[in-house]
This record gives sequence, structure tokens and C-alpha cells, in this order.
Amino acid sequence: MHVRFWGTRGSIPRPGTTTLRYGGNTSCVEVRTNAGTLIVLDCGTGSYGLGQKLLTEPPVSGHMLITHTHWDHIQGFPFFVPLFIPGNEWSVYAPRGLGGKLEETLAGQMEYSYFPVTLETLSATIHYQDLTEGELQVGDARVVARFLNHPSPALGYRIEADGCSVAYITDHEPHSPHMDESTGLPVHKEDQRHIEFLADTDLIIHDSQYTATEYVDKVGWGHTAMESSVAFAVGAHAKRLALYHHDPLRSDDELDEIVSRLRQDLSEQGCDLDLSGAAEETVIDLGEQPGGQRAARTHAATVQGPTPPRPEKVVIVVADDDPVLLRVTETALEAEGFTPRTARNGAEALNMAREVRPDLMLLDWDMPSMTGVEACEALRNDPDPEFSQTPVVLVTSFAKAEDLETAFAAGVTDYLTKPFFPPQIRARVNTWLQRKRAENDSER
Ligand SMILES: [Zn+2]
Ligand SMILES: [Zn+2]
Repeated sequence: MHVRFWGTRGSIPRPGTTTLRYGGNTSCVEVRTNAGTLIVLDCGTGSYGLGQKLLTEPPVSGHMLITHTHWDHIQGFPFFVPLFIPGNEWSVYAPRGLGGKLEETLAGQMEYSYFPVTLETLSATIHYQDLTEGELQVGDARVVARFLNHPSPALGYRIEADGCSVAYITDHEPHSPHMDESTGLPVHKEDQRHIEFLADTDLIIHDSQYTATEYVDKVGWGHTAMESSVAFAVGAHAKRLALYHHDPLRSDDELDEIVSRLRQDLSEQGCDLDLSGAAEETVIDLGEQPGGQRAARTHAATVQGPTPPRPEKVVIVVADDDPVLLRVTETALEAEGFTPRTARNGAEALNMAREVRPDLMLLDWDMPSMTGVEACEALRNDPDPEFSQTPVVLVTSFAKAEDLETAFAAGVTDYLTKPFFPPQIRARVNTWLQRKRAENDSER
């Protein structure tokens, strides 16, 4: 399997003299299996160069795996020449974003106000597929998709072929900064599952937009500090890590300095992780690995066909004793087409859950007459088996490691820290609803 970087920058293209070596184009990576399956990861401005190269090898059939539809990941789509050529065949996959389906979102950036050619006039045969978590076969590669932590629903991809594996993780933020001191692993269950998803990979391409110092002011923006990317890769026993989605303000020299500092730290710890900054035009040959495929250790269900449609009515019980926050959350959920039912304390939320049987619950921790955690514990102890499966997302400003342990022990599914942006709530709720739906489908 070969991996080639066409765009490594996050947020906005940044050409110029300070980014000559690592590159100024936004996200795009080409993956080729030895049998010739072509996978394009994201379609930022870097895809323009790849498209030009593909002109020399028509007809082209390929698969485009888009992590999410933020601009820096789709801006190259209208300029990706292989899509204009009759006889070419492309499959384009991405998670359904906030609001529209993948095809509608891609068509949106090609409306006449923005671009002279509309989506429906592209001449290649193009299949669009909204994707959720799970496995799919792409040519001779097995791809596993997993939701990331970002203010828009975003998927990370793990590709396995030729006995080796590469994980592509952008844009993503750790769910919690807390690490278990005895094990050195993250305290948050979703961070533990992230490491499981990355386990034993030959190469991880990981969002590393900030340094740990910069990250302090960027919490909630949906990106990882480089030090955390390294911790994830070390925890996953990966062979190589390419820092990716570089901040537009990061110069080549700064990146060199950071990479050499992090390498120094790794060597002092006696760790042999091969660390680099992803640089445009670089090719990594993962070769044929002896010992066969190392499959992803993931609980993801298999994706067969398109994402199941969302049911007509999705009921979410939201509880908070702060009326302003309650209203903000209610508005965010309504914007997503959900039906929120509000409560002012844990006891009220619990009674409401028994009455309306919600698809998901969003509970503040610190509330009078029963906290969110107590309400969750009571729900899990309810004789009705349905309540053992209802996703419960805790929203709180408590953020100590022991608080997290208490919450998970009480049966909390996930944990979101205040203050939050409304899109984060929408993305997180969508993630859990889709996971639950996929689980229900696979049980059927
Ligand atoms: Zn991005
Ligand atoms: Zn993004």
C-alpha cells in the first residue's frame, strides 16, 4: 500500500515562502493498494494536483472518502478534473453533515453564485453515499469508519489492505484531557475507543493543528494538540505517526522545531514511534507486511447500503436547571429536526423518560432534586430493558478525572464539557443516534 500527501494544511490554504516544505494545500491524501484500488481521502485544495496527475491514466475509477464537509475538506471537489471525464466512475462517501445529505452539501458549493458548473452536469458516473460508523469493502481494501469529536459529524477512516493499515484522523479533538496515572491511558471511554480504533496501525495520519500550549485557548474547536496525537499513537502501538492538518500560521521552520522536540521526548522515553510532519508530495510505501492483516479492534457494525433514514420523530429529553442553557440546547436540537422535551431537574427528567421513552437524554450534572448522574443511575436500574440502552450524554463544567470515573460507573454514555458551541451538541447527538441505529440494525 502506498500513501501520498497532496494537501496537509488545516482550515485554509496557505501557499507562500513559509510553507514550501510542508505545503500550503488543504487536506487530501492518495492511498493505492498493490492491486490498484485508488482511495482519495478528503478533497481539499490538495486534490487539484492529484486530479491533474490522474489525467494521464484514464479511464479512472476511484473512491473518495470524505471525513466531513467543512470547506477545507471539499474545496477541491469542483476542481477535481477526473469528475468531469465521461467514462470515469467515482464513489464518494461522507457522513451526513448538519442539515443536508452529502450530495446536497456538495451541490451547495457548486451553485451558480459560487461556481460555473453545477454538480449534476459533472460527466463522470458518480455514486454518493452518506456514511455512518461501520465497515465497508472498497475494492480490495477493508475500510472501517468511526465518528470523531468535531463540531460537525466527522468520520475517521482505517484502511486495511496488503497486510498493512493506515488510519486517517482529521478533524478530531480528545474528549477529555485526563489520563489515568497508573495506566497512562485516557480516562474518557471514547478516547480509549479511539486508541482501540488506531491499534497496531502501520501509519496514523492524525490531526495535530496545535501545540499543547496553544490548545488551551482552542478547546472545543475540534482539533488535537500534537502531544496528544503522539500519546494516542504510542498508546495504540502504531509504527508511524504523521502530524497532519497543520495550522495555517505554522511555518516550516516552526514545524521542524516541534517535530524534533517531540522526537527527542520519544527517544528519552525509549519509544520507537517513527514521527514526522506530513509534507505535501511525500510518498510513504507501507509495503507488504508479513503475518497477514491486523484487523481493527472495533465494535463498529457493518455498513451495507446507504445510511438508514432517520425516523420521523426523534425525542430527546434535555435537563438543566439553568433556563438559558436549557433554551440554547433546545434551539440547537430543534435546528436539527429533533423533538426536545425539557426538564429542570434530574427527577423530572427521569419521570419524563419513563413517559416519553426518549431516543437520547442530555443531562446537566449539577441539578437540584436528583443530579444528572443520579438520574442516569436510576434509569439504568429500571426494570425496563430499553433503558439500559438509551444513550445518556452528560453536560457539565466538572472536568476532573475522578468525576469522569464516577459518571461512567453510573452508566453515562458520554460526557460533554461546558461551555460548548451548539454545533457540538448537534454533532454529538447525531453521532450517538446513528451508533444506536446501526447497533439496532445489526441486532436485527
Ligand atoms: Zn479541517
Ligand atoms: Zn472541520
